[in-house]
Amino acid sequence: MSEIKNRRELIDLYLNFYKSKNHKEIPNSSLIPQNDPTVLFTTAGMHPIVPFLLGQAHPLGKRLCNVQRCIRTGDINEVGDEYHHTFFEMLGKWSLGDYFKEDAIKYTFEFFTKELKLSKEKIAVSVFAGNKDSPKDEESISVWMSLGIPKERITLLKDNWWGPAGLTGPCGPCTEIFYWKPKNIKAPKKFNPKDSRWVEIGNDVLMEYLKDSKENYIPAKQKNIDFGGGVERILSAINGLEDNYLTSCFIPIINKIEKISEKKYGKNKEETRSMRIIADHIKASVFLIADGIIPSNVEHGYVLRRLIRVAIRHGKKIGIKNFTKEIAQSVFSIYEDYEILKKNKEKILEELNNEEDKFNQTIEKGFAIFNRITKDKSEMNCKDSFLLYQSYGFPLEMIEEECEERKIKFSKEEFERECKAHQELSRTASAGTFKSGLADNSEATTKLHTATHLLAQALREVLKKPDLHQKGSNITADRARFDFNFDRKLTEEEIKKIEEIVNNKIKEKIEIKCEEISPLEAKKRGAQGIFDSKYGEKVSVYSVGNFSKEICAGPHVKNTEELGKFKIIKEESSSAGVRRIKAVLE
Ligand code: ATP
Ligand code: MG
Repeated sequence: MSEIKNRRELIDLYLNFYKSKNHKEIPNSSLIPQNDPTVLFTTAGMHPIVPFLLGQAHPLGKRLCNVQRCIRTGDINEVGDEYHHTFFEMLGKWSLGDYFKEDAIKYTFEFFTKELKLSKEKIAVSVFAGNKDSPKDEESISVWMSLGIPKERITLLKDNWWGPAGLTGPCGPCTEIFYWKPKNIKAPKKFNPKDSRWVEIGNDVLMEYLKDSKENYIPAKQKNIDFGGGVERILSAINGLEDNYLTSCFIPIINKIEKISEKKYGKNKEETRSMRIIADHIKASVFLIADGIIPSNVEHGYVLRRLIRVAIRHGKKIGIKNFTKEIAQSVFSIYEDYEILKKNKEKILEELNNEEDKFNQTIEKGFAIFNRITKDKSEMNCKDSFLLYQSYGFPLEMIEEECEERKIKFSKEEFERECKAHQELSRTASAGTFKSGLADNSEATTKLHTATHLLAQALREVLKKPDLHQKGSNITADRARFDFNFDRKLTEEEIKKIEEIVNNKIKEKIEIKCEEISPLEAKKRGAQGIFDSKYGEKVSVYSVGNFSKEICAGPHVKNTEELGKFKIIKEESSSAGVRRIKAVLE
């Protein structure tokens, strides 16, 4: 194994390796994408490359590489394990119509096994299994085999597919590289991707198709490569560690937390988890402030506020207070190569401190109210808990914890029911992109709302477009307006077919079920939704039998039989790539 302990050494080795293969280094850009309002954060090194995938010449040529700071709010609920972070650094390489599969995989393999000296015996890979649109990726399989990866270590996965970035454009299979973490257990002969002891350290995306507006996948004239690999995970692998928090990317932060809390990392499971969350969230917050974000109640600022506040809550669990500034200090020592951190150091520390003060005041006020409303009571009623949460910003988790500690009965289900009625408004306000657009909660709008869930699924089926989703919706008592991503007029037959499907579901008298689960669980179960920072720790998922499953704030009818007859009254264009349907229930 390699001797590298420090993240910067790893990054330099990587960049030099690719420079020796004629790649040019592109900058490590801001966490806030500069020309793309559709996403909140840079989640991969790929973002700034998208415009060059179709043939526009990149000023630095056809072979590029870099290290890119990334934020993945979608992984926030996984933070606490050994290898998922909200902030991490990604090593990237690109071929824009230059070399393709064989060289891409060979370079990746050479870097991991020759440069980093990772043992071949501990490597496994996944390859695209094929589907109706494009075949199994035989070429990648044979390249991996030619490099000495045995068949049992090559698994076929249907999910190994990337893109396109928008509705149309470059896309293709990908091949992921996994590394066996345990030091003292021999890597199994056969690779099981569900075994989390195999950790994904890199992914080569092999863009060989172009998806057109008619859903066809045609071989691309310009074939591209996009590789991404996580610095923290790779550093763990080369140091024989099973926990990214024990690498030099985190250890100064962990040591600082240990010192302040007088608790030992790794001793107690829950406390260890809290320490990881604190370390991760404070690090992410430092970088977000460096890139110009300040805590607020909307968009980027809201994500930042949430990260800081969750860290503070976990601080409370391990018995520390007023710590964000001190812990942030240890982040600077790890990332001395980032000029933006140096330049903004004072501002970063000040913003963290301010937010912590604000949150402490919120909590203090909340406690006073909490004490008042629970005085001489053995139960917390849902209206009171909602008031605490909504008007005083007292976090739900703290309401739960306090009630438990003081043996006060509290029903989370009732609280959530109470929340739901109000949720719609606040969501709409805080999340421009997530609007269910109900004008009121009357019986008529509730029915139409359920009908739009059926409509969305019927559209997906009839138009054979699984990634069709709501682009906007507006419901009044007498009609529903539903916008969705699609780029041509629907035919008469299609409209008929859609109405028929919806009406059949109504006739089937299907019960509508609502579950409160984590966004991750919702995603796992295949629920429709925008999996982003916009969701809280729990979301409501409404299912209509096996037909439709959607994250939604409700309200909905109890059974489809309540809906009557569904009719589409208009189908028109709304904007580029977006169609609009108006529908009624008779
Ligand atoms: P996983 O399935 O393990 O969450 P992924 O499939 O989401 O990973 P990619 O989107 O392929 O990962 O990203 C490329 C690489 O970036 C991964 O191989 C991994 O090394 C790293 N990576 C991705 N997400 C994270 C994260 N949340 N924290 C740390 N590293 C990550
Ligand atoms: Mg992957």
